[in-house]
Amino acid sequence: MRIIVLIKQVPEMDRVKFDSEKGVIDRKSAGVEINPFDLNALETAVQIKEQVGGEIIALSMGPPRAEKTLREAVARGADRGILLSDGKFAGADTRATSFTLARAIEKAAPFDLVIAGEMTVDGDTAQVGPQTAEYLDIPHVAYVTDLEEASDSSLTVTCNIWEGSYRKRMHLPGLITVTKDINFPRLPELKNKMKSREVEICRWDFSTFSDNLSPEQTGLKGSPTQVKKITIPPPIERKGQVFSPEETDEALAAIEKICREKRVSGGQS
Ligand SMILES: Cc1cc2nc3c(=O)[nH]c(=O)nc-3n(C[C@H](O)[C@H](O)[C@H](O)COP(=O)(O)OP(=O)(O)OC[C@H]3O[C@@H](n4cnc5c(N)ncnc54)[C@H](O)[C@@H]3O)c2cc1C
Repeated sequence: MRIIVLIKQVPEMDRVKFDSEKGVIDRKSAGVEINPFDLNALETAVQIKEQVGGEIIALSMGPPRAEKTLREAVARGADRGILLSDGKFAGADTRATSFTLARAIEKAAPFDLVIAGEMTVDGDTAQVGPQTAEYLDIPHVAYVTDLEEASDSSLTVTCNIWEGSYRKRMHLPGLITVTKDINFPRLPELKNKMKSREVEICRWDFSTFSDNLSPEQTGLKGSPTQVKKITIPPPIERKGQVFSPEETDEALAAIEKICREKRVSGGQS
């Protein structure tokens, strides 16, 4: 089976700072890492390859430094990596991102399965996987939490949407997006780490797509979304009040008052 895994490089979110004046993430304020959900996508691909054989291609759109991310993907089990990098791809919203990724997947064809993370920790839209499937005109299942069966022609999976759990069978080629519940990503093996240092990461720029992509369809030009303003919500402040064991009545009265104010209950005692 030929599997393409979508990998995005994201800032380390526990360190990154926001420029609230400009309303953007200050990407230079922190290091970068593979989007955590994409590690689950890669692990899913590795498990399928172990069952049915095949090849795993890691695909990313990003700046030249995203090559490091693809090398890490190889260290974690991908066979090779393709980086889409060009000034004409910069400033892409989810639509332009998905459209460009879909055209790249067509270039990398044939493929049987595309796997993406359910969402990213920086953009957080969860749109790119399903949109990419639409642009490829293939079926998709989003929010996959369990992989039951994989063959060269179909997948049987469970996905969780809201309160519902659905068991679905999908004919291939198709696309799935996976949640963190699907697996525990394994650590890189030594032999793969060595391979990742030497493997050639293919770099595809805009000229690679002269036959199937126009400048109006990519990057900022191909992005109908406009971010007007980003605001950081104020931190939620929690206050505590301590009562002694002798003050049970006062404690109950205080809880009842809060419940009534917050409309948690009708305030009946
Ligand atoms: C007007 C505008 C301008 C923007 N400019 C920039 C910019 O200059 N630089 C920038 O970094 N971001 C920019 N963004 C953010 C960018 O649009 C999103 O980061 C990107 O489209 C992916 O969306 P997401 O992060 O919500 O992905 P989600 O839909 O949450 O991601 C789901 C999955 O899709 C896959 N995926 C997502 N993005 C990629 C990718 N690039 N390559 C491979 N797989 C991927 C991964 O598997 C991921 O787990 C801009 C957004 C807007 C609206």
